[in-house]
Amino acid sequence: MAGADCVFCKIVQGQIPAEIVWQSPWAIAFLDINPANPGHVLLVLREHYATVDTIPPALFGSALQELPRLADAVMRATGAEGLNVVLNNGKVAGQVIDHVHFHLIPRRSGDSVTIRWEPGTYRDSAEVTSTAERIRAALSTGGQ
Ligand code: 5GP
Ligand code: ZN
Repeated sequence: MAGADCVFCKIVQGQIPAEIVWQSPWAIAFLDINPANPGHVLLVLREHYATVDTIPPALFGSALQELPRLADAVMRATGAEGLNVVLNNGKVAGQVIDHVHFHLIPRRSGDSVTIRWEPGTYRDSAEVTSTAERIRAALSTGGQ
């Protein structure tokens, strides 16, 4: 179902224009209107899901099967040396449009794009173990 006033649902439905480069029954890809670099593409699920943790796994797999070919095409078409694939999930992670999408950002050495964080450390090995254990437990109980 379309999200109320969702820009990407409107693009999917053809209600507002976009430079579409690829479409499938599950997803579409189009140029970002404000690219980090020329050729910055957004891969968007046709169906409206706000965040990645809510998507049915099978749908996610279908929608994403074109990612490798799309990444290859973006790099060859732009002459990029590399590519960042970014998914901002939730407002705190920088998500502005609440409709799941991947950014494919072509990269060249010396460009002005910054996608980075300060490498952190765990307090001790107990924190490593307990953190992994909490994730394993979450995977085995509840959720998807
Ligand atoms: P987010 O911060 O949610 O991960 O990224 C949203 C992206 O959508 C931004 O890079 C922004 O430039 C792009 N965007 C926002 N509105 C439009 C639009 O109407 N058309 C297109 N093609 N891209 C959009
Ligand atoms: Zn939407």
